[in-house]
Amino acid sequence: IEERFDAIVVGAGMAGNAAALTLARKGLKVLQLERGEYSGSKNVQGAILYSDMLEKLVPDFREDAPLERHLVEQRFWMMDDNSHTGLHYRSDEFNEERPNRYTIIRAQFDKWFSKKVQEAGAVVLCETTVLELLQDAYGKVIGVRTDRKNGQVGADVVVLAEGVSGLLGTRAGLRKTPDKSNVALAVKEMHFLPQETLEARFNLRGDEGAVIEAVGTISQGMTGMGFIYTNKESISLGIGCLVADFEKTGQTPYGLLEKFKQHPSVAALIAGSEVKEYAAHLIPEGGFKAIPQLYGDGWVVVGDAAQLNNAIHREGSNLAMTSGRIAAEAIFQIKSRRDPMTKENLALYKKMLDESFVMKDLKKYRDMPDLLHIQAQNFFLTYPQLVSKAMTNFLRVDGTTKREKEKTTFRSFLAARSLTGLVGDAFRLARAWR
Ligand code: FAD
Repeated sequence: IEERFDAIVVGAGMAGNAAALTLARKGLKVLQLERGEYSGSKNVQGAILYSDMLEKLVPDFREDAPLERHLVEQRFWMMDDNSHTGLHYRSDEFNEERPNRYTIIRAQFDKWFSKKVQEAGAVVLCETTVLELLQDAYGKVIGVRTDRKNGQVGADVVVLAEGVSGLLGTRAGLRKTPDKSNVALAVKEMHFLPQETLEARFNLRGDEGAVIEAVGTISQGMTGMGFIYTNKESISLGIGCLVADFEKTGQTPYGLLEKFKQHPSVAALIAGSEVKEYAAHLIPEGGFKAIPQLYGDGWVVVGDAAQLNNAIHREGSNLAMTSGRIAAEAIFQIKSRRDPMTKENLALYKKMLDESFVMKDLKKYRDMPDLLHIQAQNFFLTYPQLVSKAMTNFLRVDGTTKREKEKTTFRSFLAARSLTGLVGDAFRLARAWR
C-alpha cells in the first residue's frame, strides 16, 4: 500500500458525504471514493430533505443548496381502484423563515453536498469503485482495493457508506446480505409540467410544496406505498413494495407504477406532463431488527448500508446524514486520544448512535415491519376497500335510512374480518406502534 489516510469513506451519498465532511472539518486526512461519475449520479430518493439534520452539518445550507420547494402540505391517501379516502394537513406555520422540510433532486443536491466535502479538504475520487476491503491476518480492515491502477489504499478506519446492498461488507464477511422481506424495490418517474399548472393543481403559491403518500389497492396486497412529491417544475412520482412480495406475486414494479398513474385521483394531477427520468432503487425497510453489526476492527457502517431507515415515517436521508456525522465524531474522539481503531474503541459509534433519535425511533417501531408484512393483505387491500365502501355508503343519498347504512357498513367489516379479527388487528397495530 503506497498511500495512507486517517479514514477512507466508501460512497458519496448522504451518509458518506456527512461522514467525509465531518472528518475533513476536524482536520483528518480523508479519502472518499464514489463509483458514480459524480456524487449523486447513482442516487435515488423521493425526495424529502429534513433540514434539522443538514443544519448540523451545513448551518447556512439555505444560501446555496439546490432546494426545490418547502413543504406546507401533507396528504395521506387510502386508495381503492376508483377512489381515495384522504387525511389532509396544510399549515401556514410551515411557511416559516427556516422551513423544516424541502423537496430536492438528489443528483443536484449531492453534487452541492460533495462540493462542501471537497472545500473542507477531503480528497474525493469519483468513477472509482471499491472492489474489496483489505484485511490483515486477524480480520482487521486496513484499507481498500479499488478498480484503479495500483488501486490499494490504506487507512486507520474505513467508513462503509455504500448504500443499501452493502456488497463490500457482505463480501468481507462483516454482515449478511439483507433479507428480501427487509428490502423494498421502488421505482420513480419525474413528470415535468409548467410551473403555473403544477401550482394550480396542488394549490401552491411561490415555493410552497405538497406531498401525497398513498397506500391501498395500488400495491395489490403487497407491503408498499406510492408517493407524489412536488418539485419546482416537476412531480416525483413512484411506488415501492418489498422484494419478497414481488417475488411471491410475480407483480412488476413498473406494472404497479402504470396502474398508480392511471388511477383517477393521480391521472388528473399528472395529465399532459412530460416524463423525463425513470429510476429504480432499493430501500432498507426491515427496521431495528434488520440492523447488522455496526462496527468492527478498522471499520464502521453508516446510512442505508447499516439499514438505518424509518419506513413508517419515510425517513432515510436524515438517518444517513446523522449516522455518518456521529460515526465521524466517534472516530475523531478516538483519534484525538491517539487510540487505535479497534472494535472495542469503535463501539463508541454505536453508543452515540443509541443515544440519538436514529436508534430510539427505529427501536420504537421494531415490530412494525413484521406486522405490515404478515398482515399486508388486510392493511393494504381489505381495509382500504372497506373504508372506501363505507365512505360511498355514507355519502350517497338514496333514501336508505342512516341506521340501515350504518348496519350495512358494520356488517361489511364483520364479513371481511370478523369481530376477533378487527379487535386483533387494532390491538396488534397499537402494540407495534407504542
Ligand atoms: P446512497 O445515497 O445510496 O449512497 C451510496 C453511495 O455509495 C452511492 O453514491 C453509490 O454509488 C456508492 N457506492 C456503492 N458501492 C460503492 C463501491 N463499491 N465503491 C464506490 N462507491 C460505491 N429518504 C428520505 O429521507 N426522504 C425521502 O423522501 C426518501 N424517498 C426515497 C424514495 C426512493 C424511491 C428511495 C429509493 C429512497 C428514498 N429515501 C428517502 C431513502 C434515502 O434515499 C436513503 O436513505 C439515502 O439515500 C441513504 O443514503 P446513503 O448515503 O446511505 O446511501
